[in-house]
Amino acid sequence: MTRTTPPRPLDVASVFPELAGMSRTATRLHPRPGAPTAHESSVGGPLLWPADEPWASCSQEHDAPFGLNTPEEVRTLRRIRALDVWTDQDHAEVSRIHTGHDPSLLPEGPHPLVPVAQLYARHVPGLPFPEGTDLLQVLWCPFIDIEDQSGSEAVQLRWRRAADVTEVLAAPPEPAYVGTYELVPVPCVLHPEQVREYPAVHDLDPEPAGRIHRWEEDGATGYRGALSVAPGWKAGGWAAPFTFRDSGGPEELRCARCSAVGEPLLTFDHTEWDAETESWRPVEEAHGASATPTEVTVGSGYTLQFYACPADPRHPPVTVMQ
Ligand SMILES: [Zn+2]
Ligand SMILES: [Zn+2]
Repeated sequence: MTRTTPPRPLDVASVFPELAGMSRTATRLHPRPGAPTAHESSVGGPLLWPADEPWASCSQEHDAPFGLNTPEEVRTLRRIRALDVWTDQDHAEVSRIHTGHDPSLLPEGPHPLVPVAQLYARHVPGLPFPEGTDLLQVLWCPFIDIEDQSGSEAVQLRWRRAADVTEVLAAPPEPAYVGTYELVPVPCVLHPEQVREYPAVHDLDPEPAGRIHRWEEDGATGYRGALSVAPGWKAGGWAAPFTFRDSGGPEELRCARCSAVGEPLLTFDHTEWDAETESWRPVEEAHGASATPTEVTVGSGYTLQFYACPADPRHPPVTVMQ
């Protein structure tokens, strides 16, 4: 089933003509729980990984402030949560999983990473694939400080040419434990859809930003929530509207290798829509449908964005939580 974003409530470029040249295309991924294969784009699904290539891993030390869970426990938790009626045994099992295992059980690294996203170029045509590649894979180490891991081995991107992977790794390793199940995506199939975005107010010059602020104060249609940046998991487009980098500015987004200012590559949002961004809910979704299909939450409910180096997409992306 496709997913279709409703038309925007109004054409904001007709109200603010200076925005006309600033539109960008974003690909909303529309992840929904399913059973993707390695040959499909996915979130949390199996990766097209060469059988003769070592699996991505991380040797860093991570704090584990919560009880540890095994990947199997995470799957069990989600299976039970999806049930309409819980037995006493289900309640006991969920309670046990929430308590978790003692952090001292965490084995020494390297820890295998978990698949987060796999994107084939045919589904995200605007993404800056390095020449000769048509597949992007994202993996991370499922502990809580993902957002501070720019350029580290705890978050890894792999750009591949799918045709080069002749034999697919059949049984990828899993970490013995995860630090938080909120960093383990529910396996989702994708329903990519291209939408038009305009910059968030903090990415505009002060003069038009001020006029949009005043216009929002006078009217009912929210620029931030309905007219500028799409919520949810997506590729490309503009930076997220909420930002903690007001003080740092673009300096914080500079590529560690070459200092170019990064461009939004991927956005992993804690929700596909909320009260403010309800107008982006696809027409195929009923009011009240789950807006958190991936069940990924970074840093207690923020948005994780990857900024790619415009000079060379193979340079490690900058990750920013906002
Ligand atoms: Zn790690
Ligand atoms: Zn660079």
